[in-house]
Amino acid sequence: MIIIDGSEGEGGGQMVRNSCALSLVTGQPFRITNIRAKRSKPGLMRQHVTAVEAAAAISGSECSGLTVGSPDLTFHPGKALAGEYHFSVGTAGSTGLVLQTVLMPLLLAAGPSRLVLEGGTHNMLAPPFDFIERCFLPIINRMGPRVSARMARHGFYPRGGGRIEVEIEPAQLTPITCSERGTFEGASALAAYCGLPSEIPMRMLERARKDLPDWIEDSFAARKLPEDQGPGVILMLEARYGNVTEIVSGFGQLGVPAERLGKTAAARMRGYLECQAFAGPYLADQLILPFVLAGGGSFTTVKPSQHLRTAVDIAKRFTGKSVKLIQQIDGGHLVSVT
Ligand code: ATP
Repeated sequence: MIIIDGSEGEGGGQMVRNSCALSLVTGQPFRITNIRAKRSKPGLMRQHVTAVEAAAAISGSECSGLTVGSPDLTFHPGKALAGEYHFSVGTAGSTGLVLQTVLMPLLLAAGPSRLVLEGGTHNMLAPPFDFIERCFLPIINRMGPRVSARMARHGFYPRGGGRIEVEIEPAQLTPITCSERGTFEGASALAAYCGLPSEIPMRMLERARKDLPDWIEDSFAARKLPEDQGPGVILMLEARYGNVTEIVSGFGQLGVPAERLGKTAAARMRGYLECQAFAGPYLADQLILPFVLAGGGSFTTVKPSQHLRTAVDIAKRFTGKSVKLIQQIDGGHLVSVT
């Protein structure tokens, strides 16, 4: 049994999700203690419980300690089975984070699967649907499998109610090298909103435009969603290259001025545009699992985050594979699975 101290490294929910995915793929049971000890409300939250329940449901795994607030979880993996699954993440918990938990095991299962996930689609501190669809999945597809995702409804915090559908055609993951972004193909800024005055997305866009003066005016747009999908607003700044797309998000929050969200998102996008690295910070930590399971390959990224380093440590515990982080002359880092 692999024992993990959940207070080490990044100390968040990602350690639980990645451990479940790796446990299912490698067949090794694990116990994680001090779950999310570094967070203000430690222990499993509703969305982590749903993610583990989803991992158990696709595989007949057995768990103990799987309750909201639990600091300690034991997971005995079954075998991940292809099929049609429907998971609902109560509140507005992130559907993307549930997908993170079950995708790798289903990619390596014996047949195709279809997932329907209901909950939040654009949550703070989680990959928005657009990021999954256009930044993450294209790289998975380049590694062999065929995964497509569509969003039937948006779900914003706190109301949730979003719905995404994912089709998975499994295949062995093959190692790939992702060091070149490829030719720059375009950039755009979208503020999607509903149930709020239109001046809020307009102020976000206006501020982002001021800080991205090279982006053409027509590439900034606001999109009003049906009223019943909100209230909520998200600003997404997107840079498209031949080999990779980066999306930087600003999530509307009560009490945070729209201008501040626009300014922060634009500053992060500028940081990405000014360097050569393939993967931004979020994509980088999400690529660790598929690259380790492919057994090789490499990608370049910006300064490694604590999430990335923790994902590397957890992956090594389950697979024995080492991941080297090598600083490059231009300040970027090469992430290489050996
Ligand atoms: P906790 O509440 O313990 O912090 P959590 O389960 O909500 O945990 P994390 O452990 O912080 O979440 O993991 C968040 C995941 O979401 C990471 O894989 C990260 O890359 C991804 N993520 C967060 N924000 C974004 C974003 N804006 N765009 C893309 N991906 C994101």
